[in-house]
Amino acid sequence: MRGSFIPFALPDIGQEEIDEVVDSLKNGWLTTGPKTKKFEEDFKNFLGCRHALAVNSGTSGLHLALDAIGLQRGDKVIVPVNTFTATAEVVRYFDADPIFCDIDAETFNIDVAKLQDTLNHHPDRNRIKAIMPVHLAGQVCDMGPILKLARERGIFIIEDAAHAFPAKWNETFVGLIGDITVFSFYPTKTLATAEGGMVVTNSDRFAERIKLMRQHGLDRDGWDRQSSSRPSWHYSVMAAGYKYNMNDLSASIGIHQLAKADKFLARRQQVASIYRQELSGVKGLTLPSIRSEKDVHAYHLFIIKVEERDQFIERMKEYGIGTSVHFIPLHLHPYWKELYKHQDEDFPVALATFKQVVSLPIYTRLTNSQVTKIVDTIKKIMRE
Ligand SMILES: *Cc1c(COP(=O)(O)O)cnc(C)c1O
Repeated sequence: MRGSFIPFALPDIGQEEIDEVVDSLKNGWLTTGPKTKKFEEDFKNFLGCRHALAVNSGTSGLHLALDAIGLQRGDKVIVPVNTFTATAEVVRYFDADPIFCDIDAETFNIDVAKLQDTLNHHPDRNRIKAIMPVHLAGQVCDMGPILKLARERGIFIIEDAAHAFPAKWNETFVGLIGDITVFSFYPTKTLATAEGGMVVTNSDRFAERIKLMRQHGLDRDGWDRQSSSRPSWHYSVMAAGYKYNMNDLSASIGIHQLAKADKFLARRQQVASIYRQELSGVKGLTLPSIRSEKDVHAYHLFIIKVEERDQFIERMKEYGIGTSVHFIPLHLHPYWKELYKHQDEDFPVALATFKQVVSLPIYTRLTNSQVTKIVDTIKKIMRE
């Protein structure tokens, strides 16, 4: 008996989320309003940051972050080559350029030595305005040297933390490390709001700009207009902004997802530890490595390496188990490859890693018997 298919990812939406959405539908305030304000307030309290600004996607959050630091046409931003295209595409919105950096073979995060080399020797090094570390799978990058390199040069750090809620670097939450941090609440991520994201910063100046630009460059949003003493019809346009605000239906889901974040994390950690225990010593399979035991890994993904990767994925599918690949390195995609005339071998570690990586299902709705089925199936496939 093969049983039913185990999907690669599933959001965990409970009755609380459903009731909260229904409440918003009934009270009639659907766009940015009381639920969004509460979600932001709760998020701020969770991390202990100064500002948490809800947006309609992680991608819009990254765009707003680059706008806030004043990125200009022709500027350069260092981006790890092993990421989702969103990290790099937002740089192109400014007619600026990502400079790709290879990854570390162990953690799959940005390689700090190569980052330093880029900062010191890249022909356009004087135009580098920011570094965008991506905490891949939920494991925090080696932030100590990254912070030092950036501070020495007056370069901003915009963290793509789409995988890293909640994660910690030593005792410090991701969100409190770099200049601006962006989380994603896409359905496959560790906290889901259908579509959504959160921009976090301790800078009042950045927060003010992000708040302005996420909603048409208006000096106050619809909810502020309802609740202040100025006439509700009055607003002033201060800039050509964007339409990136979060709606209250998404925030309704987010409020209750956030309340369960620690419980969700504990379950993902449990699944990860079962995988580690059951799969250690399986011949031909490499488990994901841990950079520092002192950090908290969000375990958005559990990325293993196998030699016959494509075949492995096919066999898993035949046994009813969904998997995925994170990521196809950006320089292999037609757009990026052609734009910057990249060769596959330009980023040898990312290329070699890509050929072997597979992401296993890791989410709270996985049952123990499903986890057992997954490890048993992997052992069987690896013996074939
Ligand atoms: C999901 C993801 C994003 C984009 O988030 P959206 O909320 O879907 O816009 C950005 N970067 C990485 C690494 C991601 O995995």
